[in-house]
This record gives sequence, structure tokens and C-alpha cells, in this order.
Amino acid sequence: AQQYPEWIWQNGAIKPWAEATAHVMSHALHYGSSVFEGIRSYATPDGAAIFRLTDHLSRLYHSAKIYDMVLPYTRDELAAACREVIKKNGLSAAYLRPVAWRGLGGFGLSAETPIDVAVAAWPMGPYLGPEALEQGITACVSSWQRFAPNTIPAGAKAGGNYLSGQLIAREARRLGFGEGIALASSGLLSEGAGENLFLVFDGALHTTPASASILTGITRHSLITLAREDGIEVIERDIPREYLYLADEVFMCGTAAEVTPIRAIDGKQVGAGKAGRVTRRIQELFFGLFNGKTNDQWGWLEPV
Ligand code: PMP
Repeated sequence: AQQYPEWIWQNGAIKPWAEATAHVMSHALHYGSSVFEGIRSYATPDGAAIFRLTDHLSRLYHSAKIYDMVLPYTRDELAAACREVIKKNGLSAAYLRPVAWRGLGGFGLSAETPIDVAVAAWPMGPYLGPEALEQGITACVSSWQRFAPNTIPAGAKAGGNYLSGQLIAREARRLGFGEGIALASSGLLSEGAGENLFLVFDGALHTTPASASILTGITRHSLITLAREDGIEVIERDIPREYLYLADEVFMCGTAAEVTPIRAIDGKQVGAGKAGRVTRRIQELFFGLFNGKTNDQWGWLEPV
């Protein structure tokens, strides 16, 4: 059975996990009206640190703004809540999940309900293990498209968006692939169910732009920054589907997935069929942030 941590933060207080409940008639449960973040903390040589906490919380407030949700806590209060759930549960390498939602207070679509907020944390080490980081996963292009930019804004990390993500991920798993990649409404590449996408051509990184209905990921931004600092060219551009089959290397990235190579797409081998030279360099730079080998000149590691 699933094991849960002991403590969780909800609406201003730390409480036992089992007591953090919401009413069945909460607006969000019916209409998807929640915004959330996924953040990692790492056990670094200088102690536990939360990766880009400030930037993740900024995105949470941006997501809330799009849906006119006024969070009843300041950024500092939520940052403190994030630190508190890690400390109180005795965690170091963990996944943090702040979530805010329209609660009980009206059944109409445009109801002005109270906004409930919670922050959970649970242990999470490397997601896929050394084997997948070296050998990569398989992926397929989904029969489900990403939502168009004038339907649901991909730039908000909102609960309702993940109905699309579930269709894409569940179809991929059902067909025996590790992850699904979606095309945008333009027909061009968008992103993975819960990860951004990078292709390597001639040593340069190519990644899809915001106009492709992607969540502009914080890992994506971190990798772009690390790559450029290392002299690797990065190009944000429209990418047609078949480029997936022609790329020298392809990898996905995200808070949970970190930097995950893709070894085959739609049954076609990508490059040499395992993590390529550029992917390995990006992994080295990224994981180096957490083992002290990459200098964190940006202040991305925020101590717990
Ligand atoms: N795209 C989607 C749809 C996601 O859910 C995520 C995970 N939050 C990402 C991309 C990667 O974003 P980040 O690097 O900020 O975790």
C-alpha cells in the first residue's frame, strides 16, 4: 500500500496527513480549478536545498493570476510552508507539491469561492535510476493533441490541463511506451505529457517554443542556461514531427523526469539508441548542481 508522510501543511497550519481534507463539493473537484507546482529538494554537500523555490512559487502565482485566484498567503508564507513540510517530515531528497484550489463556496462556473492552499512533500530520489539515465526510455507520438493556445492556456500549471496529460500518458503506457509526446494544434511538436522536449542536431540543442502550447518548464530554462554557459548552442523553434526520427539525440526534462534520454520514438531508434554525448553533458551539468560539481552562480539552490 502507498505510504504517506506524517505531516502536511494546509491553510496556514501543519497537520497530520489524514486530516488534510477538502469538501466533495469543492469547485476544483468538479471543474479542474486548481493551480499547483512540482518542486524538488536535493541532498547537496551543503545540506538539503530546494531547487529554484522562488521561481516555482512565482509560477504558482502567475498560474493563479490567469484564473483570477487570489492566494490568501504571501510568497514568503508559502516558501516557509515548503521548508516546514520538508523539515517536519525529516526529508532531504523530496518532491514538494504546493496546490491552491477553488474550494467550497458556490457551484457556478464563475463562482467566487474561497481559495484553499496546501503543501505536501514526500521522499523522491532519482526518478528512473542509473539504467534509464544511461539507456533512455521509449516514447510515442500521441494520437491526442495538446490543447490549442486559445482554448486552455498552457502557461498556467492548472489542474484541468492534466486531463490532456493523462490521456497522452495513459495511451503511451497502454501501448507499451515509457512516455507520450504530443503535437500542438499547429501540427508541430509540443512536449511530453509532463516534460519538455529537447532534440540535438550537430551538437546544438533545439527545443519547442511557448507558442507550441508547452509549459515553459523551469528545468527547461535551467538546461538552456547551463548549456549556453557551457558553449552549447540552444535554439527555440518550431519543430516538425519527423525531426524526432532524424535527431542525433532526444531527451525530455522536468522536475520529476530531470534529464531523461529517449532511445526510441514510434519504434524508430534515436541516434545510437542510448544517451548521446550532448545529453550526457547536459546531465552532468544538471546533476552537478546537486553534487557540488556545477557552480550554482544563479542562486538556484535555496537552503531548507
Ligand atoms: N510540461 C508539463 C506539461 C509539465 O507538467 C511539466 C512538469 N511541471 C513540465 C513541462 C516541466 O516543467 P518543470 O521543469 O518546471 O517541472
